[in-house]
Order: sequence, then structure tokens, then C-alpha cells
Amino acid sequence: MSQGAAGNPTVAMVEAAFQHHGLHWRYVNMEVPPAGLADGVRGARAMGFRGFNLSMPHKVAVIPLLDGLGESAMLIGAVNCVVRRGEQLIGENTDGKGFLKSLQEICDPRGKNIVMFGAGGAARAVAVEVGLVGAKHITVVNRSEPRGRELVETLRFNPETLDAEFVSWHGDYTLPAGTDIVINATSIGLYDADARLALNLDSLKPNMVVADVVFSPPQTRLIRDAAARGCRTLDGLGMLVNQGVIGVQYWTGVNPDPVAMRRALEEAMGL
Ligand code: NDP
Repeated sequence: MSQGAAGNPTVAMVEAAFQHHGLHWRYVNMEVPPAGLADGVRGARAMGFRGFNLSMPHKVAVIPLLDGLGESAMLIGAVNCVVRRGEQLIGENTDGKGFLKSLQEICDPRGKNIVMFGAGGAARAVAVEVGLVGAKHITVVNRSEPRGRELVETLRFNPETLDAEFVSWHGDYTLPAGTDIVINATSIGLYDADARLALNLDSLKPNMVVADVVFSPPQTRLIRDAAARGCRTLDGLGMLVNQGVIGVQYWTGVNPDPVAMRRALEEAMGL
């Protein structure tokens, strides 16, 4: 359920998965205003929906309307994917799981030192998932201090294995030596291929993995700069595809083909 996402390419992506696997299912985009959310969820229950996705501002408001939450959705405090399990509607967060799946294709975050820019919804989802699978240290670099500190508090769920710290973002940030993974989880770069993240590019080293959650355009300035310095890079499209893959798995029990889904997404985005 979204507040206004007509022509959303994720619809094309999920429906491509259904077609590819011969599933006679539909993924329908519906605009639900905040005041109608409770009725929307009641309607989905009554009509036997197997689940649905939610976008802002519904990701937090939906929580009291559900019967339970997955572990990471509870820690993140937001739900982007609802799954019917038996008679219950359970809230999951597939944003961070989608990121993690992409990351794990090129690098195992266990025991790694991570620097993450941002402390909003995407950042919370990403940080919780990499923390749950055993990242060693997460430095949260954010412009707004209260948001950054709140995320660091959230990341105290397993202090024996995970350490987290907040750094206030003023001017170009220099990555500490020993950084393994750098993540832009801010909206800097969204719809602006030239937008610059305040980062000292000389501190990027070829052994680092650099990931961006921004998916449009996929080749953000950060991704281009990091590739030019020999870093392995990960664009935001992989995260978007994989959150869709996980949603389809949750709802249908089928493991969908990510290649068919990415192709449909790219086509719908005109890439
Ligand atoms: P939020 O509004 O919740 O958070 C935005 C974050 O970006 C905050 O940390 C904010 O800092 C920071 N920020 C924004 N502008 C600036 C700036 N000029 N300078 C410094 N910091 C800035 O957004 P979301 O977390 O929901 O989304 C972030 C991005 O993630 C979006 O581009 C979205 O499209 C993408 N996304 C991608 C997904 C995917 O599947 N690839 C899934 C979900 C999101 P502050 O706290 O100081 O305001």
C-alpha cells in the first residue's frame, strides 16, 4: 500500500516474477491515505491477501494494526512487508534483508568494520541486518545528531559482538584505516547523478566495498568515484530487486528468479 506511487516499477518487477514462475497471482498498487490505513489493513485481511508492501508514512503506523513482527522489523521499528502466516498478519522489514543479500554476493559482513552515512529508515534497516549477521563495528555518520544517536542505541542489541558509534557529519569525512565496507544510506544522489557525498575520496582504498542504497540513478557519483579508485561497488538496484525477491518468497513460498525481476525493473525504469 502506498500513498501515491502510480506507475511504480516495483509492480512490474514483482509481476514479472509471478509470470516467470507461472504463478496466477497479482501485485496491485493501491493508494491509501494515512487516515485509511486501518481500513486498508482490515480490507486486506477480509479479502485474504497473502501480504502487501508499504511505503512511507505507513511503515511505522501499520505496526499496531498487525499481529506480530519479525525480529529485524521489531528492532528497526518499521515494516515494509506484511506476510499472512496462518490467520496472522506479520510485519517484516525486507529493505535491510535485500541489502544484505546483495552485499553477501560480494562480501561477508561478519567481523567487518562498517562506515554508514545516514540514520533514516533505509539506514536503520541496513544497519540492523548487518549487525544481526555479525558485523563487528558500525560507525554511523549523520548530519542530524539525535537521529544518529538513536540508531546507535538501536544497535546495542548484541554488545558482545557488535560495537556502534556515532560521528557527527561536518565537512568531508575521512574514512578510518581498517574500514572494510562503506555504505551511503542517505538520499544524497537520488535523481541527481552529480550530487556529492561529503567524503574525503583519498581515504577510499581498493580493498573496500562501497555500497549505495540509492537506486535511481544506479551509477551514483559515489559509486563512480569508488570504482575509479579500485573499490568493489554495489548499487541500490540490487537491494531493490532483493527486497522484492524476499517478499515474493515470503508470500508464495517460491524462490523467484532475480534476473527476470531485475530485467523487468530496469525496463520499467527506462535503464
Ligand atoms: P529518510 O528521509 O528516512 O533518511 C534520509 C537520510 O539522508 C537521513 O540520514 C538524512 O540526514 C540524510 N540526508 C538527506 N539529505 C542529506 C544531505 N543533504 N546531507 C546530509 N545528509 C542528508 O530516507 P530513507 O532512509 O527512507 O531513504 C534514503 C534513501 O534510501 C533514499 O534515496 C531511498 O530511495 C533509498 N532507499 C533505497 C531502497 C532500495 O531498495 N534500494 C529501499 C529504501 C530506501 P538527517 O538525519 O540529518 O536528515
